[in-house]
Amino acid sequence: MRIVDIQTGTISLPLTHPFKTALRTVERLEDIVVKVIAEDGSVGYGEAPPTAVITGDTVGSILCAVHDFIKPAILGMDLDDLEAVMEKLDACLVHNSTPKAAVDMALYDLWGKAQGKPLYRLLGGARERFETDLTISVNPTEEMVRDALEAVERGFGILKIKVGKEGMADVARMAAIRAAVGPGVKLRVDANQGWSAQESVSIIRAMEDNGLDIELVEQPVKAADFDGLKAVTQAVDTPILADEAVFSPQDAARLIDEHAADLINIKLMKTGGIYQALKICDLAEKAGVECMIGCMLESKLSVSAAAHLCAARGIITRADLDGPSLCSVDPYSGGPVFDGPSIAMTDLPGIGVGDVPCGNWQ
Ligand code: MG
Repeated sequence: MRIVDIQTGTISLPLTHPFKTALRTVERLEDIVVKVIAEDGSVGYGEAPPTAVITGDTVGSILCAVHDFIKPAILGMDLDDLEAVMEKLDACLVHNSTPKAAVDMALYDLWGKAQGKPLYRLLGGARERFETDLTISVNPTEEMVRDALEAVERGFGILKIKVGKEGMADVARMAAIRAAVGPGVKLRVDANQGWSAQESVSIIRAMEDNGLDIELVEQPVKAADFDGLKAVTQAVDTPILADEAVFSPQDAARLIDEHAADLINIKLMKTGGIYQALKICDLAEKAGVECMIGCMLESKLSVSAAAHLCAARGIITRADLDGPSLCSVDPYSGGPVFDGPSIAMTDLPGIGVGDVPCGNWQ
């Protein structure tokens, strides 16, 4: 089945609360959507969030990559040889992982639809439902405590707390949140590169000494500070999760070889899509390194692609797929069912999300 057209459009969705991390503040989700059309008229959908502070991808760079590089490279190729299409997609541009991810998931969506099966089954079928955490944005402590309690009330048993802006003050912040939610709630900490290696060790040890029972600490140091990440991992007992430090399968291989972190956060927008993410899963599985599946500020469209990967592969033991829960509306039909912390797969073929509400396809 040949690829005959690739189009892009935009979606804009209000968030329930402004999304704040050590790197940025966002009030509204504004993403590019991608539609790949096959010769029989069937369509596959993907989504590309412009997350310049993490991936370097902007609205302009995403549109240019899709229309001027990816489309000419893969138009006319046959989806029956999916591997050849994916290798071409990867090779037609260096970097630009976000537009590649959007096209990759649209291709997998089409490929699954052509076989009449849900994608997660075609890629391994490890499970049919799983639980996601919810992100609590970095704010004054009282506000974070309130947001954490509200999340627990909504049924979330795992919270990912954004920190990284105030050094040792983050220990008191986490202590206040732990005291408020009690011992039954899992707390993850994401510093988004906000600490130095030395600070990380002091802060994490203080959290350990205070019995805050932190499940893991995500990306304490700068993405490029590989030695720092490794030093922190080896100095503390709390598991360290690499996020911004791992984009590609090559990054994952080095991290695993040198035990520079205990866990890997896979995001389709960093890997350039499902095809490369599966390679990271293979490496991680071989080494027994558990993974988390994460997302950027994304709507249900691309988060559904990530959900299929999570449901497909057992080595992904943790999910941070709260994008749809952060949006105040769900404009799509179909796809996995996101119900508070629970994500349940369905039998719809491909990724299964339809009715992408975009009036400006071009
Ligand atoms: Mg992170």
